[in-house]
Amino acid sequence: MRFTAEHHAFRKVVRDVVEREIVPHVDQWERDGIFPAHELFPKLGEVGLLGLEYDPKWGGQGADHLFTVVACEEIARSGCGGVPMAIGVQTSMATPSLHEFGSDMLKERYLAPAIAGTMVTSIAVTEAGAGSDVRSLRTKAVRDGDEWVINGSKLYITNGTQADWICLLARTSEEGGYRGMSQILVPTDTPGFSVSRKLDKLGQRSSDTAELVFQDMRVPVDHTIGEIGRGFQQQMSQFVIERMFAAYGAVGSCRRALERTRDYLKQREAFGQPLMANQHIAYSMAELSAEIDLLQSHNYACAEAHMNGEDTTRYATVAKLTSGRLTRKVADLCMQYHGGIGYMEETWTSRYFRDSRLGSIGGGADEVMLQVLAKLDGFTA
Ligand SMILES: Cc1cc2nc3c(=O)[nH]c(=O)nc-3n(C[C@H](O)[C@H](O)[C@H](O)COP(=O)(O)OP(=O)(O)OC[C@H]3O[C@@H](n4cnc5c(N)ncnc54)[C@H](O)[C@@H]3O)c2cc1C
Repeated sequence: MRFTAEHHAFRKVVRDVVEREIVPHVDQWERDGIFPAHELFPKLGEVGLLGLEYDPKWGGQGADHLFTVVACEEIARSGCGGVPMAIGVQTSMATPSLHEFGSDMLKERYLAPAIAGTMVTSIAVTEAGAGSDVRSLRTKAVRDGDEWVINGSKLYITNGTQADWICLLARTSEEGGYRGMSQILVPTDTPGFSVSRKLDKLGQRSSDTAELVFQDMRVPVDHTIGEIGRGFQQQMSQFVIERMFAAYGAVGSCRRALERTRDYLKQREAFGQPLMANQHIAYSMAELSAEIDLLQSHNYACAEAHMNGEDTTRYATVAKLTSGRLTRKVADLCMQYHGGIGYMEETWTSRYFRDSRLGSIGGGADEVMLQVLAKLDGFTA
């Protein structure tokens, strides 16, 4: 994978922005249970971080995919999982379908402000009865002339209390299963939309997560993203981008955790020597470092395939599965080697431990990744 001087310079720009605009505020945002997306996102938009690969016509940078890889690795060093996840929703979960399939009218009104950071977005797929099994979702959009009338609810929606618009996956015909779904762009100032609950979570606490309700909500049919009836397929492609974002970020967060633990182990003494002098500890750290390298190499292969226009479903599935598990392992060992202080809320390890647990659940659980992989590799009866 060829990173140029420009990519390296960009890494420094992102690191500086993260250290200036995010890191100093994270503790407060974690306590608040929310971060001010409408304050932070315009700052990220200003340096081009919210539309790296998007068309300059809509304010994007038209940059290559390696800039996204660099950005994900660096944003993940924010000192929490919540804010990077919220940024990921904006860049890699709620907007890819709009950029790829949306009309110019929708892109002008909704994508351009999302890239500038003046509008905050959410992706709404999950429901109380439909998480891993997206095919069973029940939120319905029934056509009435030029409008969709939307009824239903969505659960665990990131940025849900702050979003200006939502990329909603809804059922738009009576056909069952994956047929007859559409992606609809839903402005949240439409009558009939409400946030019914802001949810309290184990981790990712600086990111707001909500339950959303749609009651006889009327949205113009021209707010459909792409083709009516192709929503499931479009969402599956959008999930691939989401999973790549998650895996690229995992490398950044794991690497940072290892660096911080290494520094701690060099200065913490037990039995008359630094803990790092203990070979068992040093080898365990080295082993994790090697595993991060392997994930990063796999990520770069995925990025290269993406840049060559190949289908990256398998790469992204392996990357998401591996990154969720590796982050949990890294978080567990970092806490272990910090001992008691690592278990204290005052130490970064406790937040990292809580935040890392989501990687194997959100955006497709580990078992769902295995289901996809088993199917792709023919491990089926
Ligand atoms: C903090 C947070 C933020 C989120 N943000 C969003 C968001 O912004 N937008 C959105 O749409 N969704 C969001 N989600 C939802 C998330 O994607 C789902 O929680 C996830 O897909 C799992 O769905 P579920 O919770 O319904 O679990 P279920 O589908 O009930 O599955 C429960 C468990 O069963 C196991 N399992 C499931 N299927 C299989 C299988 N086929 N074989 C074997 N085991 C299986 C897995 O271990 C899984 O964790 C978020 C969730 C959280 C916790």
